[in-house]
Amino acid sequence: MFKRKRILVTGGAGFLGSHLCERLLADGHDVLCVDNFYTGTRDNILQLLDNKRFELMRHDVTFPLYIEVDEIYNLACPASPNHYQHDPVQTTKTSVHGAINMLGLAKRLRARIFQASTSEVYGDPTVHPQTEDYRGHVNPIGPRACYDEGKRCAETLFFDYRRQHNLNIRVARIFNTYGPRMHVNDGRVVSNFIVQALRGEPITIYGSGRQTRAFCYVDDLIEGIVRLMRTSDDVTGPVNLGNPVEISIGELAARIIALTGSRSQLHTAPLPEDDPVQRCPDISLAGRLIDWKPTIELNQGLQRCIAYFDDLLRASA
Ligand code: NAD
Ligand code: UDP
Ligand code: UDP
Repeated sequence: MFKRKRILVTGGAGFLGSHLCERLLADGHDVLCVDNFYTGTRDNILQLLDNKRFELMRHDVTFPLYIEVDEIYNLACPASPNHYQHDPVQTTKTSVHGAINMLGLAKRLRARIFQASTSEVYGDPTVHPQTEDYRGHVNPIGPRACYDEGKRCAETLFFDYRRQHNLNIRVARIFNTYGPRMHVNDGRVVSNFIVQALRGEPITIYGSGRQTRAFCYVDDLIEGIVRLMRTSDDVTGPVNLGNPVEISIGELAARIIALTGSRSQLHTAPLPEDDPVQRCPDISLAGRLIDWKPTIELNQGLQRCIAYFDDLLRASA
């Protein structure tokens, strides 16, 4: 039977958070979106502001938050390397203090809590594809560490709150996800390449372009997150969520040029330090636990994303 819940989404004005808020509202719930607008924008949730079941609160999760909700999705944290390295100390604080505060809130309310963890906990992986039991290969003092180690510590906190306080936790390790509402200046590869292609600017390939990633369309990912949160109480994760179709960055550039019909040239730029060489999720656990797998192929998702950025760039021209 449907039970209407009051649900907190931290980072709800960001790329993934805004899609999640929309989905939870469509499912009939009340949504409280908490965001400090570090990388998120009001534009992402503009279409939700008139909805009586939607509430927006400007707040930084590194500070305590005393509210009443039934369920918590903790997504607050910049996700693009450009953004999370801009103020690395704040990034670690957001992951760690943010997790402590949201777990404290969940403990007081006895509320179920979801953590948006990341494939970055595997670092530059030596096991391929990555399974959840792989413990990772992370440089603890490199430029990505504020994010990777922050997210690893957040996972530790989630599992300690479960062991110590019997909290009902769900942890997903999200692999590269793309889609509408990524910021034009987000800096991640899919939005960068599409915006560059549409503007006829050089496509910036970092390094050789032989490094790989596997890209999941946002709607598939949101379905996975919601399923994980709705499944039976003994499931905690961590569970990989991503689309296990691996592609090199060079090939991604070629696809985007073909799909946009762009005349952009390829431009090589230095490979950022500690950039993972290869990444692809093993999603068999998600298949077994929540009967989930992505349904949207890369070309299809890219086309939707291209249409979104095309409209956006024309509107702002
Ligand atoms: P995003 O940058 O678009 O969204 C992050 C949101 O969190 C923004 O709205 C931002 O303003 C907010 N935020 C940041 N610090 C905050 C703070 N201290 N207090 C309150 N709000 C704060 O990124 P995204 O891609 O939507 O990522 C959302 C979550 O999913 C992040 O936790 C990220 O680590 C995780 N994730 C995303 C991906 C992906 O491919 N998109 C992959 C792995 C993990
Ligand atoms: N907290 C919060 N909202 C709440 C309850 C707790 O933000 O409704 C914060 C509070 O700042 C605290 C943190 O969560 O520091 C961890 O709470 P917990 O009860 O686990 O720890 P303690 O208060 O004992 O340090
Ligand atoms: N990348 C690139 N050009 C760009 C942005 C990113 O070649 O304009 C590369 C980056 O070096 C990495 C991959 O694309 O190898 C994915 O980068 P992104 O920042 O999207 O996510 P990551 O998986 O590294 O967190």
